[in-house]
Amino acid sequence: MPTTNTPLVLYVYRCTVCGHSGKLHLPESSPEVTTACSACGAEVQAEWDGGVELTTNEPE
Ligand SMILES: [Zn+2]
Repeated sequence: MPTTNTPLVLYVYRCTVCGHSGKLHLPESSPEVTTACSACGAEVQAEWDGGVELTTNEPE
């Protein structure tokens, strides 16, 4: 059975056709990926959302 434990990366995009903002999780592959707008289906370029930092204060 597959034992791939690939971390998922958050990509965000804003459709230039309909203005829809979407996000998707993909296995880390490249800084930019081309995908389809979930609202209108237009081809959009999603960018790795590296600006989001989750502040998790885990007590040790
Ligand atoms: Zn769209």
